[in-house]
Amino acid sequence: MGSTVKYVSTRGYGPQSFTDILLEGLAPDGGLYVPHTYPQLSLEDFQALGDILINDGYARLAAQILALFIDDIPLWDLEKITRQAYTKEKFGTDLIAPVTKIESNLWLAHLSQGPTAAFKDMAMQVLGQFFDYELARREQTMTILGATSGDTGSAAEFALLDTSRVQVFMLSPLGRMTPFQRGQMYGIDSPRIINITVPGSFDDCQDLVKEVNSDAEFKARHSIGAVNSINWARLVSQVVYYVSSWFQVSGGRGEVSFSVPSGNFGNICAGHVARMMGLPIKDLVCATNENNVLAEFFRTGVYRVRASTETFATSSPSMDISKASNFERFFFDLAGRDATEVGRLFGEQLLTKGSIDIRTTSYAQDPAEVYGFKTGVSTHRDRVDTIADFYRRPGYLMDPHTADGVKVGRELAGDEPMIAMETALPVKFGSITKEAIGKVPEIPTRFAQVLDAEQHTVLCDRGVDQLKEIIEQRTQFSPM
Ligand SMILES: *Cc1c(COP(=O)(O)O)cnc(C)c1O
Repeated sequence: MGSTVKYVSTRGYGPQSFTDILLEGLAPDGGLYVPHTYPQLSLEDFQALGDILINDGYARLAAQILALFIDDIPLWDLEKITRQAYTKEKFGTDLIAPVTKIESNLWLAHLSQGPTAAFKDMAMQVLGQFFDYELARREQTMTILGATSGDTGSAAEFALLDTSRVQVFMLSPLGRMTPFQRGQMYGIDSPRIINITVPGSFDDCQDLVKEVNSDAEFKARHSIGAVNSINWARLVSQVVYYVSSWFQVSGGRGEVSFSVPSGNFGNICAGHVARMMGLPIKDLVCATNENNVLAEFFRTGVYRVRASTETFATSSPSMDISKASNFERFFFDLAGRDATEVGRLFGEQLLTKGSIDIRTTSYAQDPAEVYGFKTGVSTHRDRVDTIADFYRRPGYLMDPHTADGVKVGRELAGDEPMIAMETALPVKFGSITKEAIGKVPEIPTRFAQVLDAEQHTVLCDRGVDQLKEIIEQRTQFSPM
């Protein structure tokens, strides 16, 4: 299954190799990097990968799959990277992402067993190791500057805590995260992980990050980078659990479908890649909450991004998006990989008109028929009912994002097994759990210390100049 894979931007730039694009976010033309072709595997190949999962474990499976997309890091090193990322110690289980049955034809893929109890650990742990590997090879260091409203920031910090060449400055809105999220992030005690609190909202944090990044000289001097969800290394790491889940449920025979609680379209886009590689996936169910930009596109053929004022704050907050940043990757395939067309639509029309309408284009094919995409919406009421229902019957407590996926997945399930992705543990979202079952979730023993840990933060209440000062003062690496 050896291969050569180059990367191209959805808007035409390239080709580049994997390590060229690893430390970058967007391509220089504003597009997203995708492999120039998807590796093609036979059923026998996927069965052999399943055997690797069973005999050698998830880390080895991950290295084998990554090797299909990466021709400039030797397999031996990929295995070291994935072994560091996926340990029983961090994930609490040998299988890393086990799958269990919760109803006659419904399964849960447990992607939230990692250090921060959300599925972002699955990708971020690998990304942290990739960064350290590539920076060592280049004899460089990097400063990650980011903003978070919760899950992404803590997953990034826990992943980069284990590395030596990356420092993190993470902005979060003062007092707006849940007590568990605060305890988890601010409890980290390391000179390389600096949590900066900002009075205001997540958007205010994001604006400060943008202001720093617009100072090209400062950005270059401190080698400032990002860990956002459009990074290809994050996306490709997620392909692995589609293969492992398929194998655990099907035993290597027959099709399955997946239901994926979606926000930035990263998780389900990895499912799309797996399906394009030949993995026997019948349907990919894209479940959204009240912020239904994606569901609307699949239903109508019109993709209309929302202003942040039009984005609802819901009880599945990690899916509260107004623009799905990974969607352009799927769209590239939908539009017959026509980079000029994607550039025109995403680089121009989306910015000027705020929407894209494919109904009259030559590629206005049915995404359900061609790519297996189905879609549905779940509301606050649905989440509460779903959490309560499964807590009563199989006695299983799920988080609100997982509940969105389960609700929509059950509605759209056919005869094949439906696997819903569990994207977080309920301990992170106490208040909706209380509404659904009358009590807050128990704190799993491995998180018992989270709420008691001493918290370390730096306040930034005087704008971008103060933020730059904090970075100057706290940097562990000598600026260039
Ligand atoms: C990030 C996140 C999602 C959405 O995933 P995307 O890849 O952005 O679609 C869903 N649930 C949880 C708990 C998350 O943290």
